Amino acid sequence: MEDCIFCKIANGEIPANIVYESENVLAFDDINPMAPVHVVVVPRVHVATLMDVSNGMMDEMISAVQEIAKIKGVDKKGFRTVINCNEDGGQIIFHLHIHILGGRKLSDEMG
Ligand code: 5GP
Ligand code: ZN
Repeated sequence: MEDCIFCKIANGEIPANIVYESENVLAFDDINPMAPVHVVVVPRVHVATLMDVSNGMMDEMISAVQEIAKIKGVDKKGFRTVINCNEDGGQIIFHLHIHILGGRKLSDEMG
């Protein structure tokens, strides 16, 4: 989709530090990390929000999360995944993404 930052990263139009790639999924370091590990996992195709996900789409996304946790060395100590959805959820980029946060003890606050 035109003017979507994450589509542009997926197309190679905008650089990013890619940490994982599979057929339908791409992951890269967040440009403004909120923790020592902060990776964003996206589908290659443009899907705006979690509400637009169709059946089966998340399987490869979750497999990616598992692999990235190992790559980043947070699989044993733990990490947090976040999907912000729409305005009240704090979504800023309207291309579906899973945040992976780790590398430090995260706060107990969920919002
Ligand atoms: P949201 O609030 O939509 O869930 O999160 C969007 C995330 O994308 C933010 O954490 C932000 O730092 C990250 N982000 C925004 N623009 C870019 C960019 O151009 N490159 C990378 N790597 N991350 C970005
Ligand atoms: Zn997009």
